[in-house]
Amino acid sequence: MKTLDLFNFKDKKALIRVDFNVPLDENFNVTDASRIEGAKSSIIKIIHDGGAVILMSHLGRPKGVEAIYSLQHIVSEVKKVLGLEVKFASDCVGEVAQKAVADLKMGQVLLLENLRFHPEEEKGDVEFAEQLSKLGDIYVNDAFGTAHRAHASTTIIAQFFPKAKCFGYLLAKEIESIKRVLENSQKPVTAVLGGAKVSSKIGIIENILDKVDHIIIGGGMTFTFIKALGGQIGNSLCEDDKLELALSILAQAKAKKVKIHLPIDALIADDFNNHAHTKIVEINNIPEGWMGLDAGPKTNVGFSYIIAQSKTILWNGPLGVFEMPNFAKGTIELGNAIADATDDGAFSLVGGGDSVAAVKQFGFENKVSYVSTGGGAMLEMLEGKTLPGIAAIEA
Ligand code: AMP
Repeated sequence: MKTLDLFNFKDKKALIRVDFNVPLDENFNVTDASRIEGAKSSIIKIIHDGGAVILMSHLGRPKGVEAIYSLQHIVSEVKKVLGLEVKFASDCVGEVAQKAVADLKMGQVLLLENLRFHPEEEKGDVEFAEQLSKLGDIYVNDAFGTAHRAHASTTIIAQFFPKAKCFGYLLAKEIESIKRVLENSQKPVTAVLGGAKVSSKIGIIENILDKVDHIIIGGGMTFTFIKALGGQIGNSLCEDDKLELALSILAQAKAKKVKIHLPIDALIADDFNNHAHTKIVEINNIPEGWMGLDAGPKTNVGFSYIIAQSKTILWNGPLGVFEMPNFAKGTIELGNAIADATDDGAFSLVGGGDSVAAVKQFGFENKVSYVSTGGGAMLEMLEGKTLPGIAAIEA
C-alpha cells in the first residue's frame, strides 16, 4: 500500500486532507477530538522527517462562508492534541493561503480554512483542486470519512501529484482493517448486522455472503425477517416491502452455506419509551400493541456462543434501542462477547455510525481490534464498492 513510509518529507511541504469534521458545543469547544487524534501519527511523521504540514479539512455543511463553521474554532484543540504550534490561514486557496504556505517553515503546521466555504470542493471542480495542489509538494489523504466522495480535495487533487501521493496512516489502517475482514480473514468469520432497517444493509449483506461463515442479524431489521417467515411481530419495526427480499437473502445464504442467526426471543415493550412495560417473549410471538426493542436472554446467550467461536468479527449496528438504558442489554452483551473473543485472539472490526456510538458509550473502544472512523465510507467498502478517494491514490 502507498503509505507515508514511501517518502522522506525532509524539506517538503505535505498537503494532508484530514477529516477534522469534529463535533463542537455551543461555545465552539471540541467535544470529541478522536478525529484529530487519528491524524496525529501522520502529522508527526512528516514533522520528524523535517518537513512542514498543511492541513485541509471540511467542517459541517456550510452554505458558502459561515463563521460558525470556521476551522479557526478548532485551532487550539489541534495544538493541544499535536503538542505543536498551529498556524491558521483564513482561506484555503488564493493569496491568503499562498502567503501562509510561503511563510511556512519546515517543522511547522498550518491549518487551512474550511474547504466547503467554496462550493467547488463538493463539486469536485478541477481548477479548484489544481489551486489546492499548488500549496504542497506531496499529497497525503488521511480522511477516511470522506474517501467515498469524489470531492476536489479528496479525489480530484490526486491527479496533480502523479508520483507524490500517498495514504496517511489512519486511512491505511482503515483499508487494512476492512481487507483483513473481507479478504485475508481467519475463519470462522462472523458479521453482526443490527440497526434499524434491512434496506440500509442490503448492499452489505449481498457483498459479504461470499466472504463470511456466519451472519448474526439483530436490532429492528430482525422483524422484517421474522414476519417474512410467518411470525407474529406485533407493532415491531418492519419494512413490508422487503419481505420477499428477506426470504431471498435467507435462500442465498443457504445456497452459499452461510449460517444466518436470527434472535429467538425478544424484550418487548408496550410503548417506544424507556419506562414502558416490558416482557420477554419468543421472537415470533409478539402480541399486537407490543414491539421488540431488544434481544432476549436466550438470544444473547446464543449470539455470544457464536462470537466465542469466531476468529474474525465485523460488527455494524446495535442489537436493540441502546439509546434507552432498559433496551441496551443485548448490545452490551454482544460487545462483551466481542471483547472476550478479541482478548482470545480474534480480530474484531466495529464500524458504521451507531455501532461506533454504542461502542464508545459502553466503553468497548479499547477492547476491540479496530473502530472505524468513517460511517458512510466504511459501509460503501463493505458493500464492495471502490471508493474514489482510495482509487485516486492507487492510480
Ligand atoms: P442503523 O443506523 O441502521 O445502524 O440503526 C441504528 C438504530 O437502530 C439505533 O438508533 C437503534 O435505536 C435502532 N434500533 C435498534 N434496534 C431496534 C428495534 N428493535 N426497534 C427499533 N429501532 C431499533
